[in-house]
Amino acid sequence: MNYEILYELLDYEKLNKRLNAIVHNPNNKFPVIEHECIGKSSSHFPLLHYSIGEGRKHIVFFGGVHGNEIIGVDYVTQLMYNLALGKGSFQNFPYQEYTIDFLPLINPDGYYTTTYALNYVLTSDLESFAHTYFLNYKHDDKLIKNINDLLKDICKKMNILNSLDKLITEFWLYFYGYSYLTPKLISNFLVNQDIDVENMLDVIKELFLKYFAKEEISLSKKHQEMFNEITLDVIPELDENHRLLKEKLSYIYKDKLVPLHTLANFYANSNGVNLNDNNLYYYEIFKNKLKEEKVILAKGRENNILISIPSSLGMPNYDMQKPFKYEIENEALLTFIKELNDEGLYYASFNCHGTGGLLYARPINNQKYLKINEEKAQIYIQKINEVYHELLQEDIHYEIMPKGKFITGVGDMLREEYPLAFLLELSKMGGNPLGPYGDKEHNYTITMIANFEALMSLILN
Ligand SMILES: [Zn+2]
Repeated sequence: MNYEILYELLDYEKLNKRLNAIVHNPNNKFPVIEHECIGKSSSHFPLLHYSIGEGRKHIVFFGGVHGNEIIGVDYVTQLMYNLALGKGSFQNFPYQEYTIDFLPLINPDGYYTTTYALNYVLTSDLESFAHTYFLNYKHDDKLIKNINDLLKDICKKMNILNSLDKLITEFWLYFYGYSYLTPKLISNFLVNQDIDVENMLDVIKELFLKYFAKEEISLSKKHQEMFNEITLDVIPELDENHRLLKEKLSYIYKDKLVPLHTLANFYANSNGVNLNDNNLYYYEIFKNKLKEEKVILAKGRENNILISIPSSLGMPNYDMQKPFKYEIENEALLTFIKELNDEGLYYASFNCHGTGGLLYARPINNQKYLKINEEKAQIYIQKINEVYHELLQEDIHYEIMPKGKFITGVGDMLREEYPLAFLLELSKMGGNPLGPYGDKEHNYTITMIANFEALMSLILN
């Protein structure tokens, strides 16, 4: 499997340099066409478009919908690089039958913000820094899980298990801004919730010790602390677009309600909108939630970040008081795919996200596409697992995501409207943005190669 896998953190300058080098590489076996951009981002960065192939069956690869999932952007460019060179299985790419469209960066605002911030902090070698980040991320996941499990145990003891979900939500709102936790503080919280805690403190203490083996724990998040020194100064004012980006970010961070470390893990575009959540279905769900809860925190390891205001995590709409509107990045993407389809040129699409080792392939309502999607997804996944087995002598299971209940993302929406509209969660190594870079040999490189091979398997079968 003779591929050339590049390994670097692609910031604004390096990404554009890589793309230029791919287009102008004299060793290309298949020419890369640079098209007019399909639109602009909210901070006016171009949404770039390239293609390889002359066929009528177009497969669209797009990356960076979530700006923090940087491996998605990296992957699309590496696919373009290796395909152009005719590396590995790509030497048999049916150039006359297929065209691959590359839209490497759908959300430049979020991506450039993330990578500028990362670059500012990244002083040591990328792999070791990324590995530390990965471990911290896991640690924080475990911390939150332990606390939530502890609350469950307390509820069990007190026979109030039926209000657990609400209690967990209230718990994290109550402890918003707290840096540590003790059994006494938990007891105070329960009293605040009008729960009778008489004689319960000892029980809480005992459970607390069972989980943490000490009477006080820190609530700070290690994966966020790595970015504590970041400020808006990490965005250089290179040109008008950069200045606009910085101005829009300044607006999001102006009230100090969104912590500055989130610049290094910026999902949204510069309007504070999450481009996958930016659809009418999720807009309605979120609006109802806002009506009930007024203030909403993110879940899990990011439960110290408010999402009921424009933030790095992003809302479904630029303003939840106003009618739903697609962000211009989504308008450009949806128009691009629709026009391709209207001309009879659409075959498949891959929406490349960061972590999970998953393929979203099953439409929720559209029965018509279920069978063909399932069939092709199986081919794709099987090949990935084969390559992992071959290169790593290890069984690693990429999976097809079970069918969801509701449409909540733009990815789900596309899958209802078009066949083979996959959403690919690339890396088995968790922890956007850096986790997937934490093990170059055993994870990062194989993720790239396995997905190249899987694409060719899908095309040839
Ligand atoms: Zn994502």
